[in-house]
Parts: sequence; C-alpha cells; structure tokens
Amino acid sequence: MFSSLSDISGTSEFFNPTEETLSQDELQFRQNEKLKNVVRYVVEQNEFMRNYYAEHNVNVNDFRGIEDMASLPMVSKETFRKTFPLGLNCVAKEQLREMHMSSGSTGAPVVMPYTQYDLEQWAECMARCYRMAGGYPGDPVQITPTFGLFNGGFGMYHGARAADLFVVPTGSGNTERQIQMARTFKTKIIGAVISYSVRLIEVLQKMNLDLPDLKIGVFGAESVTEAMKNKIHAALGIEVFNIYGMTETGGVGTLGMDCRDHSGIHVWEDHYYLEIVDPATHLPLPDGQFGELVVTSLTREALPVIRFRTGDLTRVLSRKKCDCGRTHLKIDAISGRTDDMLIIKGVNFFPTQVEQALLEIPGVYPHYQIIIEETAGVKDIRIHVEAEEGVTGYQIEKHLKERLGFSPKGDIFKPGELPRQDGKAIRVIKKIKE
Ligand code: ADP
Ligand code: ZN
Repeated sequence: MFSSLSDISGTSEFFNPTEETLSQDELQFRQNEKLKNVVRYVVEQNEFMRNYYAEHNVNVNDFRGIEDMASLPMVSKETFRKTFPLGLNCVAKEQLREMHMSSGSTGAPVVMPYTQYDLEQWAECMARCYRMAGGYPGDPVQITPTFGLFNGGFGMYHGARAADLFVVPTGSGNTERQIQMARTFKTKIIGAVISYSVRLIEVLQKMNLDLPDLKIGVFGAESVTEAMKNKIHAALGIEVFNIYGMTETGGVGTLGMDCRDHSGIHVWEDHYYLEIVDPATHLPLPDGQFGELVVTSLTREALPVIRFRTGDLTRVLSRKKCDCGRTHLKIDAISGRTDDMLIIKGVNFFPTQVEQALLEIPGVYPHYQIIIEETAGVKDIRIHVEAEEGVTGYQIEKHLKERLGFSPKGDIFKPGELPRQDGKAIRVIKKIKE
C-alpha cells in the first residue's frame, strides 16, 4: 500500500509531473482502489475503529469504494479527543518518528503521529505546493511559524527539504530580526500564518525597509479574504498563495494550495478523497454548493482519517484540467468553520465577511477584533479596528451596514494598539455579562 515517492524533478513546473497531471478518470480509479485498501487497513490495525464500525454495522468486506462512502460513519475532532493521545494510531509505536498537535482553536488539541513514510508523504505534498508557487532548488525560503508542536514550522521544513530549497529556519517572533535575515539571505519565499504577514508589513514600515528579493508568500492556517490578499500584495509586492491542511490530515500543505492561476485550491487527490456535505444533515452536496469539507486520507500510514469532518466550509469549484496543467480538483478558499458562524440580531455571518467589509474601507488596517457581548442570553457585537487618523466610526458603521445588513457599534484604535498574536490571530472574543 505504501509505495515509495517520486524523485525530484528540478526544473519542471510540477514537483511530481506524473501524479499532478493524471486524468480525472485515472485519479478516480486510483482513489477507489486506495479507498478500499485504507478502509480495510484501518479496521485491521486499529481497535477503536474496528469497534466503531461494528457499532455502526459496517462490514468493510462489503465496501466497494466511492459508491459506498455514505455507508461509513464520520469521525470528527471529538473522535480524536476521545482517543487521546494515540488511540487512532494504526502502527506499532516503534514505527513512529514524529508527532504534532493542533493549535486547539476549538478545544483540546489533537495529536497526529507520523511514520517515516508519513513524513515523506507530507514532504511531497508540501514540496508540490512550493513548486506550484514558483519555488525551485536553491531558492531561499524563510519559515516563520514556530518549530514546535504546531505542524506549521516542521511541515514547511520537511517540504522545503524535499523540494531542495534553501531553508532559513527563523521560526516565529522577533520580526525585526526576521526582516534582517530576509535581507541578508535574500529570502524569495516566506511561509507564514496569514496574519503574520500583516505584522511583517507593519514592522517593515516602521524600520523604513523593504524586501526586494521576496516574491512569494505561502500563507495558511487561517481564512484568507480577497481584501487581505490585496493588502498584502500591495504592501509587499509578492504573489500570495493560500495553503491548506490540518493536523488531522497530516499538517500544512497536505491538502493543497492555489496555483498561479489563483482560481481555487488544488487538492492532492491522489492522497485525499473529498466530500462536501450539508453540515446539519451530513448528506452530500453537489459541486458548486457550499458545505462542510469531509476528508479521507488515502495514503497515510500511522493515522489515516476516514470521512473526517473538518468543520471547514467550502465548495468544489472545478474538476476540469486547470490552465496550469494540473488535473486535481479545485475548492474555494475556506470561508470559515461551521462553529464560526455568528448570529446577531437575526443576521447570520462569518468573521471573514466582517474582515472583507472592513478592509474595503480606505485607511482601515488589517487589525481588528469582533467582540461578542452576551447579556442575559442576548448577543450584541462591537468591532474594534485600527485605522488611520481621519477614519470615522460613522464611515465604518455605514459601510458595514451596506455590506452585512446591520451596523455593529465600533471603536477605532490607533495603529499598534490592538494585541498581536504569534500564531493564529484571535479575531472573535466572546464576553458574557451577568
Ligand atoms: P485547529 O486550528 O483546529 O486547532 P490546526 O492547527 O490543525 O487545528 O489547524 C487546521 C485548521 O486551520 C483547519 O481545519 C482550518 O480551519 C484552518 N486553516 C488551515 N489552513 C487554512 C486556510 N488556508 N484557510 C482557512 N483556514 C485554514
Ligand atoms: Zn491550477
């Protein structure tokens, strides 16, 4: 089941030309075979999953692949939490080589164990992303997420090594030093949590410096709105890529990234099988419709997830061959998580919609917080935002009213006054008043 990965092809636009351009028919055929294998593998190797499927009356010997997907029960972050730390692991402990943990955005962090093969699989997915963005052997890549439990730093590292890039492993923090390092080593590619790029812009302006060699931003971990992308592009003059992955699929870049056509996120379908389902009914949704992404890992060894409910909202945009030559399907940028949706005064919206609307206002900076105040069960919203002098609360309220259909109260802060985080930005703060 776990064949060896491809060799590096140094000059091609594809890291793995054969796999990245397989026909959709061939991809589907292979997915079907891998699905049958992985479902049986998990039941043979893992006691929790064996019992879980037995409770749901699933006989894996009857499972015929894609056509029978709906017969398999889903798993979620809760399944990981229930089996913490390694209850979903499918291999002998001696075969494990690394582990990572999620950031814990929605509760207790979950664990992903890796075998040597899994590390190579991760590196390959991530290396494809670097090459897709225009990263070639020897190109300096600065890795700014932390090297630690969170998968971002190491994932970007393993992939950069596989892609033969020149790694500048700064890790997180000390932005002034990051800038000096980028200037010294002529960093061409920066890997970061998207909100960190905003911090970088701010400190560059303060230092009155630029990064003339920086061309490519590989940003992930958080939703990226078009408005945010435009701000970053304008300030840094770089091409912004939206990289996607999560702890449960094996980390950053495992799912994929947008290509230079920027017409959606290519998902590595030879490694993952995707479904979009209605978050309430769990029924599959047709291409084009927004719903929750459910992922099955086809090629992971220590912990392949089968029908994992990601909680992330997106839709399938295209299954046609892309102008870049890749055949792997494209999904929309993640618009938020199912549990991010806010309902205030009867209006449903996602924080990303607030971000998009705020950043359309000239003079508003990409630092904001959405404060949800709940008094006796009634929710109200305030928005804190940093803006240039001259931007008025009236301007902001008027624009939000036009774009969101209601007008939250807001407070304007001077640049630098709102708190910054090292990892994922905390955009929504909930306060409950008695
Ligand atoms: P968590 O944040 O759930 O604790 P992780 O640290 O593993 O877990 O982060 C994975 C999650 O981060 C994804 O499920 C998704 O919600 C978010 N994420 C990662 N990359 C992106 C992206 N490019 N756009 C939007 N959201 C992303
Ligand atoms: Zn493409």
